[in-house]
Order: sequence, then C-alpha cells, then structure tokens
Amino acid sequence: NLYNMLQEVRGNIRVFCRIRPLMNSKSISSIEHVGNDGSIMVCDPYKPQTTRKIFQFNQIFGPTTTQDEIYRETQSLIRSVMDGYNVCILAYGQTGSGKTHTMCGPSGGLSSNDLGINYMALNDLFTISTSREDVKYDIRVQMVEIYNEQVRDLLSEDTSSTKLDIRSSSNGLFNLPDAKMCPVQSPSDVMTLMLLGEKHRASGPTAMNNRSSRSHSILTVHVNGKDISGNVSCSCLHLVDLAGSERVDRSEATGDRLKEAQHINKSLSCLGDVITALAQKNSHIPYRNSKLTQLLQSSLGGNAKTLMLAHISPEGESYVETLSTLKFAQRAS
Ligand code: ADP
Ligand code: MG
Repeated sequence: NLYNMLQEVRGNIRVFCRIRPLMNSKSISSIEHVGNDGSIMVCDPYKPQTTRKIFQFNQIFGPTTTQDEIYRETQSLIRSVMDGYNVCILAYGQTGSGKTHTMCGPSGGLSSNDLGINYMALNDLFTISTSREDVKYDIRVQMVEIYNEQVRDLLSEDTSSTKLDIRSSSNGLFNLPDAKMCPVQSPSDVMTLMLLGEKHRASGPTAMNNRSSRSHSILTVHVNGKDISGNVSCSCLHLVDLAGSERVDRSEATGDRLKEAQHINKSLSCLGDVITALAQKNSHIPYRNSKLTQLLQSSLGGNAKTLMLAHISPEGESYVETLSTLKFAQRAS
C-alpha cells in the first residue's frame, strides 16, 4: 500500500492533493498537467504569459476520483489506529474546494451513498474490532469545533456550555476533559452522533450563513484495546475539516468578519509552522501557539501518522488561492 511504502522511505507526514471537478462550465481550468508521479503543473489561464508552476506531492487525485478511491489510500492509516498509533487526517483548502465533501460527503450531507472518510473510517474500525477476537476494543468519540480560538462541544445537548477549556495532562499532552465523550458500538451510533454534531455546528450561538467554513471541526476517535493477557493500548484518530484558507481582503473585512479572518489566518499559519518543523525534524515544535495545534498535538509528531489532504478548486478564477494552497501543502512534504 502506498502510505506504508512511502513511510519507510520518509517521515510520518504525507500530503495528497485532491482536485474537485470544474463547477462553472464557463471557467477555464488552471490545472495544466497532472503527472502520475504526484506532480501537478498550474498556470493562470487568464494570464497565460505568466510562468507555469510545478508542485510535487505524495499523490494527486484528479476530478474523476471517487470517494472510495480516496478512502482506499487512507485505509492503512485507519488500520494503524487499531495497532496503537495516533493518526491525524486534515482537510485543507479554500472554501468550496471540497474539504467537507472528502471528510463527510456531498454537500456535507450524511444522507447519500457517497460517504466521506469520517464515516468510512469509523465503519472500518468496527469491522477490525469485531474481526480481532483476542482483543477487546472500546471506541468513543468527541466532536468539537474551534471558532475564533474558542472550543465548542458539538455533541453536548446543553448548547449553553459553549466554551471548553484545554488542559494539559501529566504526560504533557493537551486534552479536553469537559468535552462529551460518547461510546459507540456500531456505524449507526456514529451516524447519529455525526448528524447531531452537524446540526449543532449549523446552529451555534453565532451561527450565520456559511459559518461552518470559518471554523475548524474536529472529530476525535479514542480507541482503547485490551488483549487476553491484559495488555492495553490506547490511541486516537483526529479527523479535521479545517476552516477555509482563503485570504480575506483587509480593505473589505471589518468587525466580526475581520476578527474571524485573523483567527483563521493565525491558526492555519501555526499549523503550517508545526508541520514544517516536523518535516524538518526540528527539536522545538511550536504546538502551543494555537488551540488547533494544542488539540492535535498527540497526533502530530512522535510516532503519529499525519495525512494532509490539500484541496483545490480548478477554476481559473481561483488561481491565486490554488497557488497559496499548493505552497502551503508543499511546505509539509
Ligand atoms: P468546502 O468544504 O471546502 O467548502 P465543499 O465540500 O462544501 O467545500 O464543496 C463545495 C461544493 O462542491 C459542494 O457542493 C460539493 O458537493 C462539491 N464537490 C466538492 N468536491 C467534489 C467532488 N470531488 N466531486 C463532486 N462534487 C464535489
Ligand atoms: Mg466545508
């Protein structure tokens, strides 16, 4: 399998790029060429005299790639969660580039057959758990969002308990002791929770049109295993749908919109710094600089396996954002 093959050659961070289909039939694509070696060549179709840019990733998925094909390449990561590894899968990209489509499914809905990584991953965890007769697994999930550097529980019925504190535990890792932890026994339990989380996300105290693209949502799966001789393992899987990475025009944004944009820029750049530091094998990794990197610390670095899924919109109008996404993702690989 691709991930494991690459793992032996390089570190623990992989970057895949997914290009969604052109949505506007009048647009011209900025994607000039996709090589089967993971290279992509882009160009601004409205300024064809500018130079072409080439980026290289572990793998590129073109517009015809199915949800199943994407999942097949991430499946080994999910399996390693059951073997005690911490794993983080991050969907990065501008609003409209397909992050929620990849993680949840078409239009963020859980009602179709084209389900995303979140659901497929949990489904797989249950399948593995039942197939291993000598290990007893306990699977629990938390779902939170980070909006304006505040963490909110998406699974709590009590919507007034909006702000959660991040605590650092004895092992030096950060956690969320007050976020509701829900035991799950079947894919349908998970579906129920994901629907609840989606509902709360869309109806928060500051809910407004398209707000979900301005918060990070984190689905955390805690897996505890115990074998017949009493050996225990515990690991976690973070499935992250990041806030839209687009730059907000400073001259246009004011008030709340500007504040949101500043929080997003800061947390995404902190994430970039952490991932770059890990890719360069630096001794100091700046986890503390944002809530996002604090929460993901246990699944970034160390033995953990990290997969960044960089999403791009192929329309020529999105060229500037596409270039910025490709540059961000390239820093990690
Ligand atoms: P984001 O979460 O990055 O803002 P979405 O996942 O909401 O983007 O995608 C924007 C729109 O594009 C949605 O209507 C979604 O269903 C559609 N879309 C995204 N990726 C694909 C894809 N790979 N194939 C078909 N439609 C897609
Ligand atoms: Mg989205």
